Amino acid sequence: MTNPSKPPSPPSSDALASSVGRTPFFAYSKEGLSSSADQALSFPNPYGLTVRYAMKACPTLSILKLFHSKGIKIDASSVHEVERALRAGYDYEDISLSTQELSEEFKGLVEKGVKLNCCSLNQLRAYGEAFKGKKGFKCGIRINPGVGSGGFSKSTTGFSKTNVGGPTSSFGIWVGSFTDGSIQQIIEKYGIEVERIHTHIGSGSDPEIWKSVAVKSLEFAEYFDTVTSLNLGGGYKVGRNPGEVSTDLQECGGTVKTAFEDFEKKTGRKIKLEIEPGTFLTANNGALVTRVQDIVETSDYKFYKLDAGMTDILRPSLYGAIHPCTVLPTSGADREKEEVVIVGHCCESGDLMTPLPGDPEALGKREVTKAEIGDYCVIDGSGAYCSAMNTKNYNSFPEAAEVMVWEGGGEVIRKRQTVEQQWENEI
Ligand SMILES: *Cc1c(COP(=O)(O)O)cnc(C)c1O
Repeated sequence: MTNPSKPPSPPSSDALASSVGRTPFFAYSKEGLSSSADQALSFPNPYGLTVRYAMKACPTLSILKLFHSKGIKIDASSVHEVERALRAGYDYEDISLSTQELSEEFKGLVEKGVKLNCCSLNQLRAYGEAFKGKKGFKCGIRINPGVGSGGFSKSTTGFSKTNVGGPTSSFGIWVGSFTDGSIQQIIEKYGIEVERIHTHIGSGSDPEIWKSVAVKSLEFAEYFDTVTSLNLGGGYKVGRNPGEVSTDLQECGGTVKTAFEDFEKKTGRKIKLEIEPGTFLTANNGALVTRVQDIVETSDYKFYKLDAGMTDILRPSLYGAIHPCTVLPTSGADREKEEVVIVGHCCESGDLMTPLPGDPEALGKREVTKAEIGDYCVIDGSGAYCSAMNTKNYNSFPEAAEVMVWEGGGEVIRKRQTVEQQWENEI
């Protein structure tokens, strides 16, 4: 009998490591994913809401199925992601496709019900060519409204590797193509019906920015009277580290709701809202569990080397992302703290888990519990763009396993890759 006042704790790292063979592995919290889904689904909206999971954040089958069971739909970023969502039980109609590479397969997918957002003038032309004269086909257009938020380590050019709007961003149709009439020309030429406006610029956590993004995006909806829904994309900031703010969806959504209501008063049109969180739904609901497998020192630094690295988490190397790192000693004795640099297992000096905050090129010293070889080191905030985005198989390290955990239990949702699977397609 379990004591009802004390819930059973999730399985220990040891239990999980033995269930998947060894570290490293990703562990996701079922309760956490479910509660983030509930928060997204309660985003304020006056005339209807569709929440789409930006599945590129973490496309593992069990996670897709969990969100499916909550009534969340899909934002796919390639035709291949569409295939993956279908495999998880989604219908064609549940999937919106906003892609940087519009492969040929898009025609068949749109015919079956996938909703395409054209992300460039060429994509709009391709859509027009494929569906001109055909009744009932409607598309969305993704517009780069000329402003962007999100991203950090902004240089003087305004470029940042996580910025998705403004003149340094290639995503979406540039606002200038709207003001100079190029979009309208293509639409008229093919008789395209624009049903959806999409602007994913990374709205951050400031309610005022949310409102201005909504107002700006609604201007495009106003221009096309066939538009029935507006998709504000994702990019909601999530605090991974102490002191960082997370987006309050109720607060930000409140200002968006007002913008939609004002639009209705002005135009009489009730526009439906779509949002596409990836990070918000998964980032803080996943962690990478690793072990410290070596400790070395130079004149200036002490390094902990993990049995994982850019082959599992690339964000610190790619754009200087800061992830919390916690040493969990395997032997019970009280340990002091020390300042160390944590690195990955690849023969690559860029395989750095602790870049200096604000300077991705420099080593950052991190104060952690003093580790011995064999201790666990947990990298938190690793549910989004980690398992999904890394230098998989570099140095021939096999892809890590994934487990889902909940109070009292856990299960393997993706097995560790075998070393043979890495060369199975080689001839
Ligand atoms: C990546 C992406 C998202 C999700 O972004 P997050 O920062 O993970 O919330 C949403 N929409 C589109 C079109 C995207 O490309």
